[in-house]
Amino acid sequence: MSLTLRPHIAGMPPYRAGRSPKPGPDGRAWKVSSNENPYGPLPGVLEAVARSLEEMNRYPDAGNTEMTSALATRHGLDEERLAFGTGSVEVLAHLLEATCGPGDEVVYAWRSFEAYPLAVQVLGARSVQVPLTATGEHDLDAMRAAITPRTRAVMVCTPNNPTGPAIPHDDLVTFLESVPDDILVIVDEAYVEYVNDPCATRGLELLDVHPGVVSLRTFSKAYGLAALRVGWMAAADTEIARAVRSVTMPFAISSPAQVAVLASLEAEPELIGRVRVTIHERDRIAEELRRLGHRIPATQGNFVWFPAGELTHVWFDAFREAGLMTRAFAGEGLRVSIAEPDANDRILEVAGTLLR
Ligand SMILES: *Cc1c(COP(=O)(O)O)cnc(C)c1O
Repeated sequence: MSLTLRPHIAGMPPYRAGRSPKPGPDGRAWKVSSNENPYGPLPGVLEAVARSLEEMNRYPDAGNTEMTSALATRHGLDEERLAFGTGSVEVLAHLLEATCGPGDEVVYAWRSFEAYPLAVQVLGARSVQVPLTATGEHDLDAMRAAITPRTRAVMVCTPNNPTGPAIPHDDLVTFLESVPDDILVIVDEAYVEYVNDPCATRGLELLDVHPGVVSLRTFSKAYGLAALRVGWMAAADTEIARAVRSVTMPFAISSPAQVAVLASLEAEPELIGRVRVTIHERDRIAEELRRLGHRIPATQGNFVWFPAGELTHVWFDAFREAGLMTRAFAGEGLRVSIAEPDANDRILEVAGTLLR
């Protein structure tokens, strides 16, 4: 007799990470496929990590005590509302694990973050994907209409990966007021640091609007700690945070990762400086692309979306030939991360040839 996999696990495709670039004609190459921060660790981070490595014989602090108190203080939140994971993707998985089982429904917009369908499927729950509008935005009315008595969770992604728009704060408040109180609502704010539209969602303020709201954050993007894997959440309901802490493996977050987070939080001025550069570059690229005739959606993340449709693979190849590894979604479009200014100039050069 051979081992039997559970049916919903047997059918699961693996997560596809962004591929590495191949050098362009001038030998230069950029990976603009994973929305990573192009800049290295913030000041003080490497030193703190190096110091912590001297104690690698010791287990990390299982309670994430210092990170908890640093973030609670910084955002004015009760510590009981917080929970951490090895990346916000793990926190998301645990939130769903705590609330959803086989046959339960999870409503989210599509296309959105590729980790969502996998996180739902692994539980044997059912994804209810609500198409984005023509401009790449969440259709909150359609999402509300998709909620049934079987719905256990709703996920929104703002700014939306891969299309870019942020959900207007007031629209999300209205939506939440219509969602039953016993439904979990995950507000994935992986790119919140890059938002400069004052009307965009401010997730932490939503904790007062609906008892099931969770704001999901990461140190992988603006803070540049993607390899160290730290994500966190703030919940309206301390019971939700407690549940996530309970199902998370003890010692999940390593000591080097914990000290890297603390040192990064202390490097606030430098963080703000480089986030400003990325925002400036994003807005420059978006404006220039529109001038070239590209119909790109509004973007509040560190990336732009080309709705290339049937031309997606052709445009992907054009970028790749120039040394730019982008992220392609067959038949839909390309996501290109904002990187160093010279990479961004190369993006514009290629984009200028695509509509001829
Ligand atoms: C990159 C990203 C994350 C972050 O994932 P980590 O596990 O924290 O690295 C979360 N949500 C979205 C939408 C993302 O694009």
